[in-house]
Amino acid sequence: MSIRRRRDGFDWEAVEVLAYKEEGAAPFKAITRRTLFDRPDMAGELRYFEIAAGGHSTLERHQHAHAVMILTGRGRCLIGGDVHLLGPMDLVDIAPGVWHQFRAAAGETLGFLCLVDRDRDRPSLPTPDERAELCADAVVAAFLGED
Ligand code: MN
Repeated sequence: MSIRRRRDGFDWEAVEVLAYKEEGAAPFKAITRRTLFDRPDMAGELRYFEIAAGGHSTLERHQHAHAVMILTGRGRCLIGGDVHLLGPMDLVDIAPGVWHQFRAAAGETLGFLCLVDRDRDRPSLPTPDERAELCADAVVAAFLGED
């Protein structure tokens, strides 16, 4: 199919709404995933993620990078030791090996595109020691402690 038309909201013809991750595989809350482009003749894959109000992605890191563009809503992300405010059309560059997590603001659905390598390593989750190290910063501790 050459063109998959947009439907109401952030939805497209022939694009399935998928679980963000396998249930129980990692901590996350109120987030869905759509694969928009995944061609065997391209090295990248483009996904659309949507986090419902108060939800969040997994706190994780991996050797592949992410290139993220916010499409809708407001929220925040943790990248390494810093928390950033996010809004529509902001570009987020997540380098390899850096801890990251996205959170939707209260009352906001946060929707974003994410470009990744098709072939990529699996994310790793923080050990209790690594989490404690991140939480040594009060701003990061508050961000991670919001569940
Ligand atoms: Mn990631």
